[in-house]
Amino acid sequence: MKIAVLPGDGIGPEIIDQALRVLDTLKADGLAIECEVGAIGGAGYDEAGDPLPDRTIALAREADAVLLGAVGGPKYDVLPRAMRPEQGLLRIRKELGLFANLRPAVVYPELASASSLKSELVEGLDLMILRELTGDIYFGQPRGRRQTESGEDEGFDTMKYSVSEIERIARVAFDIAEKRSRKLCSVDKANVLDTSILWREVVTKISAEYPSVELSHMYVDNAAMQLVREPKQFDVILTGNIFGDILSDEASMLTGSIGMLPSASMDVNRKGLFEPIHGSAPDISGKNVANPLATILSVSMMLKYTFNEIEASERVESAVKSVLAQGFRTADIFQEGAQRVGTREMGDAVIRAM
Ligand code: NAD
Repeated sequence: MKIAVLPGDGIGPEIIDQALRVLDTLKADGLAIECEVGAIGGAGYDEAGDPLPDRTIALAREADAVLLGAVGGPKYDVLPRAMRPEQGLLRIRKELGLFANLRPAVVYPELASASSLKSELVEGLDLMILRELTGDIYFGQPRGRRQTESGEDEGFDTMKYSVSEIERIARVAFDIAEKRSRKLCSVDKANVLDTSILWREVVTKISAEYPSVELSHMYVDNAAMQLVREPKQFDVILTGNIFGDILSDEASMLTGSIGMLPSASMDVNRKGLFEPIHGSAPDISGKNVANPLATILSVSMMLKYTFNEIEASERVESAVKSVLAQGFRTADIFQEGAQRVGTREMGDAVIRAM
């Protein structure tokens, strides 16, 4: 298992250090893991004058999976757009053809009160949003600015999906649903958009290949409401790029803690880039207070989805559940009566629990 490790900026290196300790522990217990570190984001710019240096691209291409911390920071905000850290992230997703973005939203029993919703609505929530990542209105051509006949400026973008793009993301969704509770909800806007009408037709067609999965469809406006009304009705949600962008952020807030949520972006061969959903948190960087659990859970997702090492994946996930049950909390998830720990001490607790 060759893993390209890209710590990035801000808290990236601190949280990645703890994830590397988890990987070292698994390696010591017999998993054939090899890690190589590369620079991305501001760190890439500092090292090679590029947020995605050639060496990093080569490293990521050779690896079976990529583990990423976070990129960005105020120091780089003055750079021209192409040199900004975030461009490194967008480019690596593109270079690797990562079209399937998995965003779980899990509410651990001990943290249910951190949600902005009532505890009983979110307790036990375990939801997976699968977002298509390389198509839709974010990439559709033509796009741009032009003048109307009356001489007024207008901006325009093109929403589009081809049948093959919908088919490949739908298959990933059905595969995931088969491994979970076999319920899949496809979200679109088929009452208004032609792109969505095609989306619905193709997803329905693919469902014939997966008779054990129960497929439902929902309009995106209703899905946005249902996510805050009764989120536990969902198990796997499949949707396109723009709807998924919005719904996955909404779902992450149901859990109340940005420092707890991992994500995966995968290609057709399930090679993936695994990263926490949060950014580089410059406000707390270098202070040993960042929560490393989202990054450690990203390792768990990597073991499950790219390497199919289910036992090791569950070992890491159980260790995280166990440290929460033992009362360890970083500042972002601290509650009265719990034991406040720093980034490294949270890593220590996870390693002990493993
Ligand atoms: P952010 O996610 O970095 O931080 C938002 C808030 O959450 C901050 O108060 C931060 O302290 C807190 N936070 C984030 N992660 C945490 C953790 N692990 N533990 C404890 N608290 C945590 O978002 P932002 O402040 O909007 O952006 C900061 C920088 O990160 C910007 O340069 C932005 O472009 C970049 N960014 C990068 C990514 C990425 O690398 N995937 C994603 C979002 C933002």
